[in-house]
Amino acid sequence: DAVDNAPAIVVGSGYGAAVAALRLGQAGIRTLVLEMGRLWNTPGSDGKVFCSTSAPDQRSMWFRTRTEAPLASFLWLDVVNRDIGRYPGVLDRVHFADMSVFVGRGVGGGSLVNGGMAVTPLRSYFAEQFPTVDAAEMYGTYFPRARAMLGVNNVDPAWFEASDWYRFTRVSRKHAQNAGLRTTFVPSVYDFGYMQREAAGTAAKSALAGEVIYGNNQGKRSLDKTYLSSALGTGNVTIHTLEKVRAISRAADGTYVLTADRIDATGNVVETKEYGCTYLFLGGGSLGTSELLVRARETGTLPALDARVGAGWGTNGNVMLGRANHLWDTVGANQSTMPVMGIDDWANTANPVFAEIAPLPTGLEHWVSLYLAITKNPQRAAFTYDRASGTVKLGWSAAQSAVSVGMAKKLFDRINAANATMYRYDLFGGSNKVFADDFTYHPLGGCVLGQATDDHGRVKGYPRLYVTDGSLVPGSIGVNPFVTITALAERTMARVLAEDTAP
Ligand code: FAD
Repeated sequence: DAVDNAPAIVVGSGYGAAVAALRLGQAGIRTLVLEMGRLWNTPGSDGKVFCSTSAPDQRSMWFRTRTEAPLASFLWLDVVNRDIGRYPGVLDRVHFADMSVFVGRGVGGGSLVNGGMAVTPLRSYFAEQFPTVDAAEMYGTYFPRARAMLGVNNVDPAWFEASDWYRFTRVSRKHAQNAGLRTTFVPSVYDFGYMQREAAGTAAKSALAGEVIYGNNQGKRSLDKTYLSSALGTGNVTIHTLEKVRAISRAADGTYVLTADRIDATGNVVETKEYGCTYLFLGGGSLGTSELLVRARETGTLPALDARVGAGWGTNGNVMLGRANHLWDTVGANQSTMPVMGIDDWANTANPVFAEIAPLPTGLEHWVSLYLAITKNPQRAAFTYDRASGTVKLGWSAAQSAVSVGMAKKLFDRINAANATMYRYDLFGGSNKVFADDFTYHPLGGCVLGQATDDHGRVKGYPRLYVTDGSLVPGSIGVNPFVTITALAERTMARVLAEDTAP
């Protein structure tokens, strides 16, 4: 018949999905991974797999006719974005009413487009966000396992202090210190040995050539090079690309049935497939998994899903902003795209913020210090199903973003006061916007651990259905999230393989 069966199916191929695929494959369970994006392994006509940020083409964004970079303008000019052809490009920006969400599309999900910052959350904040999870086990076993598997490494401090490519970071560190603030190095999955060879001129430039949000051609240990290549190496895992799962239901025998649309490079649906499986792992990310489950509950295909499916969503308090430096405080024409330092004011209980010192690699001196602030915004929103359009809406409001802005502003007002500097008004569009609060890189929640699922990601009401991705995290984790997502997925898989899959 038309149904293609596998013992286990994994939806998506980002962090949570990649962990599931590897551990299932190692356990000898035949596993099929369904990913809506493409496999990024074939060079284009320029000889490169990914296009550059300075001259983006169709490979840059998911079915767009113009790029939508986070930084929309420079000196108020729309010099950043470009017209492109419609194509399954690697970066998507999903628009909801008052919030847009950047996500990666392709085998490796967000790992293909992200900044590589591999940060383990503060243990006390992790325990606050996950009160039912054994923190000792997380910090003793699963965080170290995730970091080792992801290939986390640290910049050599001596090289950092001397490198042109991190002058922008040292300037921001000095300005933070002038305000009495603490800075901290952040680890990365970008290979710093490779970066040093880029700087020395002995290796092809990637992080030092402006590559990041539209993919890195070198140096980055994205999931296709770590978890997913190991998963394929087990011989038990198969990945289907350009297949988007749109519906999940359950057959009378308790197995799951998935409907997936296979698309071509123009986005046309060329085939609709049905798959059946015993074990189903959802790793479509906070947006992908929440959408599938909210739709399944509301259309009645999985009617017993918990009322909290779709709830508990947040932006990790993300706000982007730029400061204008004095003429003598040059940030350098050369900037690495991989951030290595954050301003850590999380311990300030009146206004907790962790702000990563972000690059703005234009190849010219611009005197801008750019930041992505992660604030402890307690606001949460929910996904709802819109019957008329068959789509899922997100209830996040502009007023909820304003809470993040208020917190970021308190911190950066202090830094500006201590350095007699001001904000940049020209970076985020025509309306003199200082704080970019209308997008997030860190969508979290929608299927929160211990609420919509049990304490190990087992979806309530449906045996052998699991969530392994960022939708488990309740809206905020205080640092960049992929190490946490990976470690939680490792914890889920250890438990599931021990308890649920015994013959
Ligand atoms: P994702 O990595 O989003 O993977 C989900 C995958 O599932 C995608 O490949 C998607 O195409 C696929 N999918 C979704 N729905 C379906 C469906 N219905 N059918 C088939 N496939 C589907 N985090 C950090 O920790 N450090 C950083 O430095 C950092 N920088 C970032 C920079 C940018 C520009 C962006 C966008 C994100 C950044 N992040 C960073 C966030 C990080 O990448 C995400 O938190 C992480 O990727 C989420 O992992 P996930 O497993 O939840 O899902």
